[in-house]
Amino acid sequence: MSAAPQPGLSLNTATVREAWSLEQCIDGCARHAIPGISPWRDKLHEMGVARAAIAIRDAGLQVSGLCRGGMFPAADAADRLAAIEDNRRAIEEAHALGARCLVMVCGGLPQGSRDLPGARAMVRDGLAAIIEDARAAGVTIALEPLHPMTCADRSVLSTLGQALDLCDEIGPGMGVAVDVYHVWWDPQVEAQIARAGQRIAAFHTCDWLVPTTDLLLDRGMPGDGVIDIRGLREKAQAAGFDGLLEMEILSTAWWQRDPDEVLALCKERHAAFC
Ligand code: ZN
Repeated sequence: MSAAPQPGLSLNTATVREAWSLEQCIDGCARHAIPGISPWRDKLHEMGVARAAIAIRDAGLQVSGLCRGGMFPAADAADRLAAIEDNRRAIEEAHALGARCLVMVCGGLPQGSRDLPGARAMVRDGLAAIIEDARAAGVTIALEPLHPMTCADRSVLSTLGQALDLCDEIGPGMGVAVDVYHVWWDPQVEAQIARAGQRIAAFHTCDWLVPTTDLLLDRGMPGDGVIDIRGLREKAQAAGFDGLLEMEILSTAWWQRDPDEVLALCKERHAAFC
């Protein structure tokens, strides 16, 4: 038995991204009685932000997050500025959707660089440049630490501890996205979830398959791997998290399947393992 009631499910649209547009995802959530959705920005732009906001509201869906902002480090100042501008647009979009947060994948090393501390400083400077916009819009910035295997190309932010240090430094308006896939291995994960408290703005589920055959696109359906998803979720709730659980399965294997089957199975596995 869980200590706290199980939160509802939110569909991260990456889970069916090869087969469905955002419009189809919204309809699919309504059809399968899934209460939340988390769109990716490419799909959002395809549909149009205003149209999507209306359709999501009409379907009665909560937006557990918008994926994603970030990608701050770049080799030159013009590209770093372009990233900041793009993040400002993402904040406006998250606001238009009434999203619980804007999820940040912070970015890896600039091309050709070996300066990891420098890249981390670019992330901090990028966040400092956008936080006032986020505060003004009432959009929580949710830093998503990614597994260290992605440090070079996606995220120099690797642990919850590191993410919370940045939250502490930048201040109000900052939070974290806990994705079990990225943090389950960390001996500090439970302590850092407790430290995060109500700053946990999003909670992403999927599973770690053994063996994992692709660093990005071989995520498992909850129950098919080795992560104690429910244990981590209960820790997050005990710390104060009260949002939906967002299922995010980037997987070339699952993308082959009929999306309606995938959504039905997501619901089953959510109930059984999350
Ligand atoms: Zn995630």
